[in-house]
Amino acid sequence: MSALALAAAVKSGERSAAAVVEEHLDRIAERDGEIGAFNLVLAAEARADAARIDSALARGEPVGPLAGVPVALKDNLCTRGVPTTCSSRMLEGWHPPYDATVVQRLRAAGAVVVGKTNLDEFAMGSSTENSAFGPTRNPHDTSRVPGGSSGGSAAAVAARFAPLALGSDTGGSIRQPAALCGVVGLKPTYGRVSRYGLVAFASSLDQIGPIAATVADAAACYEAISGHDPLDSTSIDSPRELVTASLERGVDGLRVGVLAELCAGSTRVEGAAGSAVEGVAADVIARVDTAAAALEAAGASISVVSAPSAVLGLSAYYLIAPAEASSNLARYDGVRYGLRVDAANAAEMNVNTRTAGFGAEVKRRIMLGTYALSAGYYDAFYGKALRVRTLMRREFAAAYADVDVLLGPTTPTTAFELGAKTADPLLMYLNDVCTIPANLTGHPAVSVPFGSGDDGLPVGVQLMGPALSEPILLRAAAVLEQAAPSGGGAR
Ligand code: GLN
Repeated sequence: MSALALAAAVKSGERSAAAVVEEHLDRIAERDGEIGAFNLVLAAEARADAARIDSALARGEPVGPLAGVPVALKDNLCTRGVPTTCSSRMLEGWHPPYDATVVQRLRAAGAVVVGKTNLDEFAMGSSTENSAFGPTRNPHDTSRVPGGSSGGSAAAVAARFAPLALGSDTGGSIRQPAALCGVVGLKPTYGRVSRYGLVAFASSLDQIGPIAATVADAAACYEAISGHDPLDSTSIDSPRELVTASLERGVDGLRVGVLAELCAGSTRVEGAAGSAVEGVAADVIARVDTAAAALEAAGASISVVSAPSAVLGLSAYYLIAPAEASSNLARYDGVRYGLRVDAANAAEMNVNTRTAGFGAEVKRRIMLGTYALSAGYYDAFYGKALRVRTLMRREFAAAYADVDVLLGPTTPTTAFELGAKTADPLLMYLNDVCTIPANLTGHPAVSVPFGSGDDGLPVGVQLMGPALSEPILLRAAAVLEQAAPSGGGAR
């Protein structure tokens, strides 16, 4: 059952919130040993919240659009009094003294938090294998990764542990795992969803968004969490647009651009091979072509659009994101949060704590970022990456003068085997090549399940749009959802 169907059943009295929560806790108990989606299941808290909703309903009080809907939270979202680990040893024993704004808003909408989900440590990774607590497995094939870094959230939705989850997306961490797990993932416009209470990775890129089994559920969740928040200085101070009402309006007259740089080998793109990103598999491109045809059949016009700087995104991102991370993660000093490994003096305590607390990938990012920002290299690395970012913003703005949305793959391939890319960081980074442009530009993008690859595993196609185009993106996503070939997307 979808989140919206569950909420309707709870509000009509057909089902109790308590029964809905119990059903999901049972499923978690049955299968999460195999999947490893959760760092922490909040069974007692979820039961208490469900009981509160049921009694509010009994008293005839309003309960919100997501009444009784179980949600899973990526474990880098602060929850008051409840461990928030970022899947790192560094935060051992830390209980945040406040809830993230998104958590407050979900609760206000009636949703019931059932647990905190696994991620790559501090959201750095594309497979959820960089977790201090062990990997999460893909519910479609447990020998495969679920993607990352929000792999626990995507797996939780795909395994039906919760119809809704929140993830965070810095370079693709909502969309990439959603694609590999056959579910919907939306990265909103930068600033549209408050980052207050999201543990910072790269603050100019981080954005929270929904992962859901259906486009309508993702839209309802986005509606619940988005909108201005004075507690986040980068929050956009404009009224929140209601996306659910226009979801069924279709795409008649919509101008869709196939993004040439992400679509080498597409039947629509001629001779872009030289200037396109490498490694996007033929079966994935074939699904993008089918998606373009489906949008066309629904009344959209399709053209091919080029943004040459898209191929530079990966290099720019892997300087900018580590640079910001090296600064953000300086706060884990053994004094203020979590872990402390004692020593004779403060400096040694600081070194011992960070040596013991951070995993290999986090250390690699801190070193990369510190290097890129250091006096002799700032201009050559960080400065240059910022110039690429500006170029991308200009090129995408020019592209959106001609089309309303851009279409491409979400990921280069379907889900890969656990361990296949852990020995080669660069190979792992290449997973993000299609998702990174929307982070560098700050634009919204959504991944929609669209059939399966040659291996039978889910493929996601990605729709990108200009700032605040979420209503249009979700409308187009709803059309693709209806047209999707059966297979990979279904759980
Ligand atoms: N996979 C990318 C990285 O490792 C993106 C992560 C994210 O979006 N949080 O940085």
